[in-house]
Amino acid sequence: MKHVEFFEELRKEDVAIAGGKGANLGELTQAGIPVPPGFVVTSKTYDQFMKETGIFDGIMDILDALDVNNNKELQASSVRIKKIMTETRMPDEIKIIIIEAYNALCHRIGKDDVFVAIRSSATAEDLPEASFAGQQDTYLNIRGNEDVVEYVQKCWASLFESRAIFYREENDFDHSKVYIAVVVQEMVDAEKAGVMFTVHPSTGEEKILIEAAWGLGEGVVSGTVTPDTCWYDKEKNEILDYKISNKKVMFKRDPDTGHTVMVDVPENLSEKRVLSTDEISQLADLGKRIHNHYNFPQDTEWAIEDGKIYMLQSRPVTTLNMNNAESQTEEGSDERIIIAKGLGASPGMASGAVKIVRNTDELDKIEEGDILVTVMTTPDMVPAMKRADGIITDEGGVTCHAAIVSRELGIPCVVGTGDGSKILKENSIVTLDGSKGFVYEGKLKTEDTDYGEETPTTAIIQNQLITVTEVKVNVSMPEAAKKASETGADGVGLLRTEHMMLALGVHPKKFITDGKEDELVKALVENILKVADAFYPKTVWYRTLDAPTDEFKSLQGGENEPYEHNPMLGWRGIRRELDEPEILKAEFKAIKKLHEEGYTNIGVMLPLVQHPDELKEAKRIAREVGLKPQKTIEWGIMVETPGAALTIEDFIAEGIDFVSFGTNDLTQYTLAIDRNNEHVAGLYSERHPAIMKLIAMVIKECNKAGVKTSICGQAGSMPDIVEQLVELGITSVSANTDAVATVREVVARVEKKLVLKAARKLMQE
Ligand code: PEP
Ligand code: MG
Repeated sequence: MKHVEFFEELRKEDVAIAGGKGANLGELTQAGIPVPPGFVVTSKTYDQFMKETGIFDGIMDILDALDVNNNKELQASSVRIKKIMTETRMPDEIKIIIIEAYNALCHRIGKDDVFVAIRSSATAEDLPEASFAGQQDTYLNIRGNEDVVEYVQKCWASLFESRAIFYREENDFDHSKVYIAVVVQEMVDAEKAGVMFTVHPSTGEEKILIEAAWGLGEGVVSGTVTPDTCWYDKEKNEILDYKISNKKVMFKRDPDTGHTVMVDVPENLSEKRVLSTDEISQLADLGKRIHNHYNFPQDTEWAIEDGKIYMLQSRPVTTLNMNNAESQTEEGSDERIIIAKGLGASPGMASGAVKIVRNTDELDKIEEGDILVTVMTTPDMVPAMKRADGIITDEGGVTCHAAIVSRELGIPCVVGTGDGSKILKENSIVTLDGSKGFVYEGKLKTEDTDYGEETPTTAIIQNQLITVTEVKVNVSMPEAAKKASETGADGVGLLRTEHMMLALGVHPKKFITDGKEDELVKALVENILKVADAFYPKTVWYRTLDAPTDEFKSLQGGENEPYEHNPMLGWRGIRRELDEPEILKAEFKAIKKLHEEGYTNIGVMLPLVQHPDELKEAKRIAREVGLKPQKTIEWGIMVETPGAALTIEDFIAEGIDFVSFGTNDLTQYTLAIDRNNEHVAGLYSERHPAIMKLIAMVIKECNKAGVKTSICGQAGSMPDIVEQLVELGITSVSANTDAVATVREVVARVEKKLVLKAARKLMQE
């Protein structure tokens, strides 16, 4: 086995020495496909480097001792190993071989210091075909002997990126038996580039999909750029559809530094069609040749420089789902390969094609059944979220926008994957598990979760358990109210206003300053009505606006939102509404109107109170508008701050009908953990004893005073916490739509236990 092999010497069978990428480039070259010239630093060279320098055993020891589920430890070990890998001097013999190969490449091309792309291509000893795609690094526009050597070594080190270590552990690959080859290939300074699937990537239909954008292909592959899309009929040799996208950015080689940079697409090109008809037919021809050569559908990357087409990569489309819709639920793989991990935010399994959404211009690409992948969802995305079968986000915890909306829509969702939108590949098929928070490669065999007409919730209604402690439901989107009411919940324990406001697209303050308060009131009436109607005559607690400045910035008129270092501790909740009473008044006016129309089932709940004066002032404003707190309308506060919990008797003295524990906030404020900060997410837990201590205190005081108690934070959907709350004598529990049935069962069981206990005690007396 040689240290380096030029593409002409490699075949597709050489995966063990050249990795999948290297072996396929060899195969394409030998098949006469135009591939930029290059060579592979084989896996043997990596192995020799590891053994000869003596670093292998030490690295394996670090990995042996590592608990990959401890994220901090994983990151630290990865940094340590990569440091060893890059700082260890490469033996001269290996260095010389790489430099000689690079010089031979330059000589062949007829230029000095040719720019090359340096790409990792990992391979497993036992399973050379295993896919490690996207886990190791690629470096573009590298040139010169020293840099080429340095970046080859960096590729080797990237075998120990934390995500690669995690992936191997989760999928039982032995670290010591995974090797890495490195492809060194002439860089195409593309004027346009993209990807091509030689069949429909999810259905396997015989039509070619080409995605194209300006500049280097990195933009398309990473999903940063929304490319033009072209569908091509393989049989008739004709374009079926060409959709021009608005291409905002592109990647190119900086002529001064040689580095790859992202720049704005010149205005005259952004909405211009990238590919000519001739280029499309040339690409399609190449696609068909490659497909026929492998006798299997291919997922390829291509680039065009000076009008010449180059194929940069080809690999089998392994995630095809050739079956029709009916048979899809039975088919699928048993092999569970985890490719991303986050928090399970909305339960259920879903498989489909990944569609990465970077901005709202790209929402149209989400079709029924796709998996929407994004950094974080926004209200603008809700229509696309409804079309999707699953949602994956980089950021967020279980109370973020994506989590709340997907739970209400009943769509499986994984949030907080960190880099899901970077590592998942556009159009690849994945399966997500919204309970465990895992994203698996390909379509897995899953239970058929399509319950048809007979949904689990309707089944519960037919077999309704009666509980004394009311089981309510949280609603954030009026359009999800009907589904929420079908759970048989005893009312809405939290109707959030933020999602309704955000969906309007205009900052509520702007309605007021534009003299359009009546429009704001009308929109609120329409939205609240949907919920009040779906639940009538059961109570709906409308929570007044809790608008954090960072979340409302994106709205029209939101540019005036102040910048805050920590919006979670800042200008939100009732404190903000008392500073901007016009918005609060508009909300109260909407509720008054609905009360006048007979919807007296609506109560008011104030968020984030910390002092009784806030409650007093809000009641005064309500009276100004014509509402009569505690007389004709139920009035309550959320207990979300330790301050409110510890002085609950003062709030009771000021006058309230109910309190509801907002444990999402109560947890963050009690433990000093920003609920939106993923760096401290590991410490965030509603199960910290301090939270239950505060809750117990409040329930006790409220029960003494005849004030109702409830919970509407995420903890109200957690069976173990609900159990304790029922034992403490809480009046109601408000859960997520998907959790109502379980919570009802828990409540019924605990109540039965308490009744039995009391009865036994009585009998003994
Ligand atoms: C809470 O804080 O628990 C709560 C229900 O309110 P939100 O999540 O909207 O802040
Ligand atoms: Mg809250």
